[in-house]
Amino acid sequence: MERKLVTIRKIKDIKPIENADMIEVAIVDGWQVVVKKGEFKVNDFGVYFEIDSFLPIEDRYEFLRKGCYKKMSDETEGFRLKTIKLRKQLSQGLLLPLGLFPELKNVKVGDEVTELLKVIKYEPPIPACLSGLMKGRMPSFISKTHQERIQNLVDYFDKYKDATFEESEKLDGTSMTVYYNDGDFGVCSHNIELKENEDNTYWKITKEMGLEDILRKCGKNIAVQGELIGEGIQKNHYCIKGQQFRIFDIWDIDEQRYMTRAERETMFSGFLKVPVYYDSISIFEKLDNVNDLLKYTEKRSMLNPQIEAEGLVFKSTELNDGQIVSFKVINNKQLLKGE
Ligand code: ATP
Ligand code: MN
Repeated sequence: MERKLVTIRKIKDIKPIENADMIEVAIVDGWQVVVKKGEFKVNDFGVYFEIDSFLPIEDRYEFLRKGCYKKMSDETEGFRLKTIKLRKQLSQGLLLPLGLFPELKNVKVGDEVTELLKVIKYEPPIPACLSGLMKGRMPSFISKTHQERIQNLVDYFDKYKDATFEESEKLDGTSMTVYYNDGDFGVCSHNIELKENEDNTYWKITKEMGLEDILRKCGKNIAVQGELIGEGIQKNHYCIKGQQFRIFDIWDIDEQRYMTRAERETMFSGFLKVPVYYDSISIFEKLDNVNDLLKYTEKRSMLNPQIEAEGLVFKSTELNDGQIVSFKVINNKQLLKGE
């Protein structure tokens, strides 16, 4: 499931900002975003651009130039949206009135208009040792790692009130998958399968950990997924020497679903894993709104207590309609720090 970066949303609430005459805060689903005063009323529709949107250079976005102009590594120019604070108010993304978009006709709440508005996702530059040579696309029998943000899943607070979740630390590295399927072994980055190559960090760590042997012996078709962290990856906030592959999920290829925590634990008890704060917690019984959950997420990293965790990933401990239910909560303090 890809992210829907730009969607039509309904304004749930408008709040004034103390001592500000020009701006106010709008709430859409679980997001809060600063808007021009008087531009929206409660229940109006608006075009909402999530953080990480990369907007094309167009007159209607020129007001963003000062804070948002960026060139991506492929030379594409545009305006990048991230988390900011305005007058001490958190502001995530951008909310604009429908009137600015004559090309959007007959839209309704929930419609995605990312492509129509030529918005793409901002991608930071990737170092050479991580990019690697493509062997092929990510095999279609494996689910790509992805977690939806709680701000887009506010119905979960009711729907999963009685469910228990594994609460894991969200590590800030890069997604890695190794798989074994009917005799084939492969290594993938977030989106592609990589050619075997000694200069490539994913393959280097795969060899170091002897993953091919381990997977071939486990007697099942599986994809082991985790975060590659350490030197040369993101900012290595964990101050790790070399690199580590920290496993957070196992995809059962034959059953086409993620394993439960219990199944995972019996398979790979000896593996390096992402740190887990709670094996099983009734998070929606404890906290009943996005703001409290965001506050709750401001925790120390278990890999480096000097810093706060990038966020948390929650995964249901039981299957719901045959699948694991999961979502992420990103620590806003960390988002504000990000370059
Ligand atoms: P997007 O911005 O489109 O969501 P992204 O994949 O970079 O892209 P992230 O914010 O990094 O999104 O969140 C999802 C990613 O988090 C997963 O793809 C996975 O690589 C990573 N991740 C880190 N720690 C965990 C964890 N404990 N459980 C699950 N995923 C994790
Ligand atoms: Mn990521």
